[in-house]
Parts: sequence; structure tokens; C-alpha cells
Amino acid sequence: MSDPAVFDADLMQGWEMTVDRLITHAERWHGTREVVTRLADGRISRTTWAATAHRARQVTAALIAQGIAPGTRIGTLAMNSARHVEVWYGVMGHGAVCHTLNPRLFDDQLIYMINHADDRWIFVDPVFRPLMERLLPHCPGVAKVIYLGDPGEAGALSGAAVDYEALIAGADPASARWGQFSERDPAALCYTSGTTGNPKGVQYSHRSQLLHTLISGQKDFLGLSSRDTLLSVVPMFHVNAWGLPFIAAAAGSKLVLPGARLDGAAVYELLETEAVTFTAAVPTVWQLLLDFLTVNQLQLTTLKRVAIGGSACTEALIRGFRDGHGVEVLHAWGMTEMSPIGTISGPLPPSLGTPDEATRMAYNLKQGRVPFGVDMKITSDDGVDQPHDGAAPGHIKVAGPSILQRYFRDDKPAVDAEGYFDTGDIGTIDPHGYLQITDRSKDLIKSGGEWISSVEIENIASGHPKALLAAVIAIPHPKWRERPLLVIQLRPGETATAEEMLAFLKGKIATWWIPDGVQFIEAMPLGATGKLDKKVLRARYATTAA
Ligand code: AMP
Repeated sequence: MSDPAVFDADLMQGWEMTVDRLITHAERWHGTREVVTRLADGRISRTTWAATAHRARQVTAALIAQGIAPGTRIGTLAMNSARHVEVWYGVMGHGAVCHTLNPRLFDDQLIYMINHADDRWIFVDPVFRPLMERLLPHCPGVAKVIYLGDPGEAGALSGAAVDYEALIAGADPASARWGQFSERDPAALCYTSGTTGNPKGVQYSHRSQLLHTLISGQKDFLGLSSRDTLLSVVPMFHVNAWGLPFIAAAAGSKLVLPGARLDGAAVYELLETEAVTFTAAVPTVWQLLLDFLTVNQLQLTTLKRVAIGGSACTEALIRGFRDGHGVEVLHAWGMTEMSPIGTISGPLPPSLGTPDEATRMAYNLKQGRVPFGVDMKITSDDGVDQPHDGAAPGHIKVAGPSILQRYFRDDKPAVDAEGYFDTGDIGTIDPHGYLQITDRSKDLIKSGGEWISSVEIENIASGHPKALLAAVIAIPHPKWRERPLLVIQLRPGETATAEEMLAFLKGKIATWWIPDGVQFIEAMPLGATGKLDKKVLRARYATTAA
């Protein structure tokens, strides 16, 4: 008789799911597929997956040579480029953690993130040198800044700053041995805006990233193929470009990286000259592109599919792409804490039969269905599961192997007793499994894809001597999707103008956080627990022109 312990053991290979496997696969099996970058000066630079993997190994070799231990956080402050892709695979392949920083954030937020993450090196696009130099004196842990350009592109360097090409020039790729660690080890770190207090870090493991690649790469979701050419307009600092540089490597797609210019003309040019078939970004980018195409009477000739997410997609966008250019829109919902894919509304499933045009549009406008690998429930305020009837709204809670369990350096679990993470979004689920976002319980406003903290503005506004209560809510805006509106209840007997309220905020918050308008209200609506009821305010001012 055979030993039952041996007989019952897992007899399959223990392949640790580390992300270096993705680029190694692209190198071996799709090595000649191109990776194309538009550089800061507008020139196009062409390389391949094989050459990108080679240089990523040189990044690892440089990290090893300079004593960077696995687990160390390495920051990047850069737009999408082949060099950025090399750095992220080189850092992760070594077992270090790639922390993509968003250059659009305020200095204070970036300083907080760099120090909280304890970033030791930061790879920076030369155009962000002035920003980096403002941050550096406040980030004592940063030992080296590496400029991601051609030698000399960032100007004369001294001290802890070096040119990227100089850093990797002598590095021997053979000294880089990838994946010598557990799939549970951390690979990447992204911060997300806290509704109150500081931004929170979401640290992805190799396993979570690799599974996210397989989950979101399924055919009804982002589903890329080796025949696709992908333009990743969504920046790598926005949840790792939604995982697209991983999915492209797994599929062997051609990858196009647009650098800093994301205006309509620049995006159109890349779509056409590189014969792009798939692209992804937030709605604001697509509105700019469609406006540009309409004004200049231009046609998209190669694009087949566009993923739109990060904020709700509009009917105008769907019509613009579908009717104007024959491009299928995948409306995606997700978040940093979900790596980010949660749901996608794309081609309709057979269970819906052949619906009429209005019904098809209504489904495309919903946020869509979960892929295998994401589980979702909606619950009432008391935690009771809500029916999937398309009518009862609930708190959207999610579970899965690429969903957050706990924030970085925080010892409290971020999930409920059953392991579900509360997304801070509110929505309905219909009998066909389609999620529709109806509201947001987290106090944030998303303007042009970037977060504005309503709480922070309220705290300042309520410090105005004439203000008794202040609330900031999101109102719809045609270009930015949402803009802040300030609602003020004055102290008894006071009068004030909108201008003086807004003037009070100037200089205390970033200019683009200044609300688009002010409404004075007799009495703030309060909920059952005495908390300000923003649902009532949102309903009341929903049509206020921004
Ligand atoms: P972030 O973590 O910055 O990517 O933001 C995630 C949040 O953006 C979600 O929790 C939603 O509030 C919002 N969001 C993302 N995608 C959509 C969408 N398709 N429709 C509506 N809101 C969205």
C-alpha cells in the first residue's frame, strides 16, 4: 500500500505566481512584439518585449549592486514609458516594491506618501525634476533619485541624483535572478485618497497581481490577445494602469505608451499611427478625444474596443465611440483597493436575449457584471443582504484574491467578518447581475479622475466666522464629471455672498479644489443619527449648473 500522506499530496508543480513570470513569458514567446513610447520631445521610441525584459534585468542588477534588499520600497514619479515599464518589472522581479506616485497630487500628499512608504530610491521623469526637488528636502529617507531620460536630459546632476542610462549602463543582466521569493511577498504599492486624514496605501502581492492579470484578462473583461495593440492612456500611477502592462505581457500584445501628452490630438495621432486596437482611460480623456475628432472631422480606423472607467461613463461617450467610430465601449468599475477591476459592462450576455437599442444602452451605462475572481454583495445600512432586483440599493462589498484585506501599515482589518471589503460605493444589482452605482458613501468628489476631499473643504469653510454648518457635495459637470459645490448654513442673522465664502478658501486648498459655486441653505438636512444627510443635498442640487 502506498503511504496515504504521499498519495493525497498535491502532485502538481509549485509555480510561485510572481509577476516577473509575465515579462519572462513575453520575452520568450512574444519577444519581437513592440513596446512603443512617445518621448517628452514628441519623438517615437521603439523597442520590444525582449529588449524591455533585458533592461528590466539590468535595473534589478543595479539594485543588487547597490545593496537594495528585497522588500525595499522604490518610488516612481513618471508618466507611461518603456523606461517606466522596465523599472517596474526590474523592481518587482528583484522582490522590491514598486511604489507608483501620482505627480498630479499636492506636494504635501506626495511627501506624506514617500515618507510613509519609506521609499529609498525614486525614478523620476526629467520633466518632474522641479517637483522632485521641492519634495526631496522633506523626504530624508530617499537616498537616490534617478532621472528616466537620456543622459543629460534632466540637466546637470549632483549629490544623490543620477541619470537612468548611467545607472544601468554597466549592470550585468545575468546577475539578476528573478522570482526568488514567495508569491505572497509584496510587489507594488499605490496610495488612495483618504476621506479623512491621510492617504492610505494598498500593497499588492505578486499573487494578487498575477491573479488580477488572469481575472481581468478574461474575454468578457479586458481580454487582450497577441493580435492586439494596446494604448495604455491610463497612467501607471493610477492603480498600475489598471494592470494593463501585466495583461499585455501575458497576452503578448504590442504596448504603446503615450508619455505626458494626453490631449485629443496627441491620443488620436498615436491611435492611428500605431494602429491601436484597444485602449483604456477615464471618461475625461475620451471626451477630449471625441471633441477633437468631431471638430476636425476625423475617423478612428483601427480601434476596436475602449475601456472607460474610474468615473461613470456617459451615453454621449458610448454613442460617440459606437455610432461615430464603430468602437465597442467596455464600461468598467473598480478601485485602487481592487487592483482595480470590479465589474465591466461590455457585450451583453445571451441571457438578455436580443434587446432593443434603448435597453442595450441602459445596460452599457450600468457598471456591469463581475468576472470570475470577484464576489460581490450589496447590504443595507444594518448589514442585511439586499435583493438583486435592480431596485434596492445597498453598500457594495467585494471579496476576492486581488482585493484588499488590510491597508499598508495599518493593523485593523479592512474587511467584515465574512471577508468582504466595503467599497464606499452604493448601488443596485439587477436580476442579470448588473451592478449600477447610484451613490457614494465615502466623502469624496472625483473631478477629472482625481479626488477632492469634501471633508477637508468643509473643515476649512466651517471656520468662516459667518458659517454655522458647511457641506461640500459633488454636482455633475459635463467635462470633469463631478465638481464640488459648497452648501452653507449661516449663523443666525448673518448675510454673506458666495464670493466671500470662496475667497476664504483661496490659498488654503489647491485652486482646482475650489468649489464651482456656493448655495446658502436655511437648515442643513440631518439624518437619523444627527449626521448631515448629503443624499438630500445631492438630490436638491443635482441640476445646479457647474
Ligand atoms: P480609484 O481608487 O481612485 O480608482 O477610485 C475608485 C472609485 O471611483 C470607486 O470607488 C467609485 O467611487 C469611482 N468609480 C470608478 N469607476 C466608476 C464607474 N465606472 N462609475 C462610477 N464610479 C466609478
